[in-house]
Amino acid sequence: MVACPRCGQPALFAPANPARPFCSPRCKQVDFGAWANEEYRVPDATPELPPDDEPA
Ligand SMILES: [Zn+2]
Repeated sequence: MVACPRCGQPALFAPANPARPFCSPRCKQVDFGAWANEEYRVPDATPELPPDDEPA
């Protein structure tokens, strides 16, 4: 057993658990979604620019 990286619950770390090291496919999905949403993005030193008002 390992601690689920997402929720900390004990997760079965065995081929029987396709979502390992997560406790469930749901936790796996949430973690992947977080990556997709750039929740873990590296700090960006670029100053924020005002929205570019491009004429159509
Ligand atoms: Zn979990």
